[in-house]
Amino acid sequence: MAEKSFKYVIIGGGVSAGYAAREFSKQGVKPGELAIISKEAVAPYERPALSKAYLFPEGTARLPGFHVCVGSGGERLLPEWYKEKGIELILSTEIVKADLAAKTLVSAAGEIFKYHILIIATGSAVIRLTDFGVQGADAKNIFYLREIDDADKLVEVIKGKKNGKVVIVGGGYIGLELSAALRINNLDVTMVYPEPWCMPRLFTAGIAAFYEGYYANKGVKIIKGTVAVGFNADSNGEVKEVKLKDGRVLEADIVVVGVGGRPLVTLFKGQVEEEKGGIKTDAFFKTSVSDVYAVGDVATFPMKLYNDIRRVEHVDHARKSAEQAVKAIKSNEEGKTIDVYDYLPFFYSRSFDLSWQFYGDNVGDAVLFGDNDPASPNPKFGSYWIKDGKVVGAFLEGGSPDENKAIAKVARVQPPAVNLDLLTKEGLSFACKI
Ligand code: FAD
Repeated sequence: MAEKSFKYVIIGGGVSAGYAAREFSKQGVKPGELAIISKEAVAPYERPALSKAYLFPEGTARLPGFHVCVGSGGERLLPEWYKEKGIELILSTEIVKADLAAKTLVSAAGEIFKYHILIIATGSAVIRLTDFGVQGADAKNIFYLREIDDADKLVEVIKGKKNGKVVIVGGGYIGLELSAALRINNLDVTMVYPEPWCMPRLFTAGIAAFYEGYYANKGVKIIKGTVAVGFNADSNGEVKEVKLKDGRVLEADIVVVGVGGRPLVTLFKGQVEEEKGGIKTDAFFKTSVSDVYAVGDVATFPMKLYNDIRRVEHVDHARKSAEQAVKAIKSNEEGKTIDVYDYLPFFYSRSFDLSWQFYGDNVGDAVLFGDNDPASPNPKFGSYWIKDGKVVGAFLEGGSPDENKAIAKVARVQPPAVNLDLLTKEGLSFACKI
């Protein structure tokens, strides 16, 4: 059986893996020392593109256009880059067994990989309706979106079902971005979600009211407060109807499900300490097993700013945690130390002509400011979250780069705010003067 050995192995070939490779190269890595093993067939890319420009009829994003590290304004790491650096990209290779004590990984094809230092960067897998035994959920044309293969299947069905009816199950950011992308493709789109408003994990009722109104103006239908409980298919096995819990039945040629993900940690179960569903790490992304690091979606790490231990499923953290882990590995080798990870949560989304950014923590009381009329020609509005008399989180729709920087600063500095009415009145100017 084939056996390969590397000083450093990254398992997973997504966002974190790509940014880790760049950091390894910056810090100095010799040819043949580093390998990335990925289930996907392509070099690391900026995953957020899959639910946005990848699906657009015009201005479409395609590889190699969005390989890492373009998402944060860096040089694009094409497959040739890895070759030049002597970094081995082992693609279309799923690891099915990990033995952390023996420092060995085994692929589905039986190849054996040995490492000295391992970085776990396996990301998340989507939650499927079939996991809950939802009736008919295995019908054809019911899609999920995590990897480029999933996006390619969606692109194909969009072309094949022109002017067709789409039901989007889920009102999170995937549901919102996909509804917009499919609507732009001129499909008839209905969103269904159980909560009283979209993106309830982040949005307040006031924020959500704007997006729901805006989507409605774009022709997206929204059904709230109920869930899909079953699907009917035609004689070809293709989905035709979505049955809702409230008794309604929706016609559908395409269904896209975005009901969340879970970190891919099963390979390491029982071998490494876990917390909050992820692999527990320190502020350098070192796990409980020596020489094993975990970054990106799978890592549960100390969030210094909030004196808390958290897991974050956002691209910005995937990039930064990967860089931190590699810096820690290299400085450790040189007997040096680096600063602990001091992360300010940052999350963004884009759909239609809209673009929002959020920084910090969405806890405590929230105030809404600005023009949040969905019919406004240039809507610009935001929210602050205030806890213990301090502004701890800030959200802004339609901000300029400088304005977004200002709200990031607010979330980092946590300025006092006692009078919430005044804060509402001051709105964005409060952030701009911090
Ligand atoms: P991933 O990028 O998911 O990479 C994991 C990699 O590991 C994949 O290549 C996978 O195939 C591979 N892998 C897993 N198991 C194995 C195995 N056993 N063997 C080999 N390879 C394996 N975040 C934002 O902040 N803003 C956004 O707008 C945004 N949009 C998104 C849109 C979509 C469609 C998706 C799916 C996510 C989006 N995210 C967004 C979240 C963000 O992309 C993730 O947080 C980020 O990709 C996590 O990086 P990661 O390296 O941990 O995992």
